[in-house]
Amino acid sequence: MFDSVMFVSLGPGDPELITLKGLKALQKADLIFCPSTALPGGKSSSRAKDVLLQLGIGESKLNIFNVPMNKDRSLAIESYKAVAEEISDKYKTGHKIAVTAEGDAGFYSTIYYISEYLTQENIPVSRIAGVPAFIACGTLANIHIVKQEEELEVIPGIITLNSLKEKIKTGKTVVLMKASQCEQVIKEALENIQDITFHYFENAGISGKEVYTQNREEILNRKFPYFSLIIIRK
Ligand code: SAH
Repeated sequence: MFDSVMFVSLGPGDPELITLKGLKALQKADLIFCPSTALPGGKSSSRAKDVLLQLGIGESKLNIFNVPMNKDRSLAIESYKAVAEEISDKYKTGHKIAVTAEGDAGFYSTIYYISEYLTQENIPVSRIAGVPAFIACGTLANIHIVKQEEELEVIPGIITLNSLKEKIKTGKTVVLMKASQCEQVIKEALENIQDITFHYFENAGISGKEVYTQNREEILNRKFPYFSLIIIRK
């Protein structure tokens, strides 16, 4: 299994939503790289670490690396590059390395910077699929995200009100990732567009923190956190 650096998808946060294959890889790895985010006040939080500990993965195997959350992506890219260099060294000295990502590691995952760097350095990489957050959100709301001939469009957080309106008009289901980046646009859309349902989610799969509502007032009154997304459907 470890003739390459293994990128393991963790799923949306509920530890039971990792795949069996992902879990086995984590159990066999001797070094697991795991992203965390710096919080104001000097602390940091790592959803990936939370999942790993709940899965019974030994903390001593974990290498938690900090990813700066900043509009200036170059800081994050620098830190990914430094981690990739460390992974490359450890791989060459025979470690069985797993790198974790929330949701699916191939779906809007910044972990691809690491994967690309390793590939450039001729280090083999492979990946284990996972449940993306929006799929878990559909389950939480008990909706079919798309059915029959319906189409789906996924938007990575940056959109204007006009183009959102245009997309909704097409009748496609719209998944808005990174809702915190377009909170204002979504709230304007909520006030402007009727006859459509906005399914709002926070922290899907995280016990005690999960939020699901389609109540417009409630959505308007919320401050969207990083782990929020919206599914817009007829
Ligand atoms: N690779 C991830 C997506 C990473 S982009 C996946 O497959 O789902 C980060 C965005 O994903 C967040 O801004 C948020 O919109 C969404 N997200 C990730 N986990 C989430 C969760 N548990 N609940 C709600 N949204 C989540």
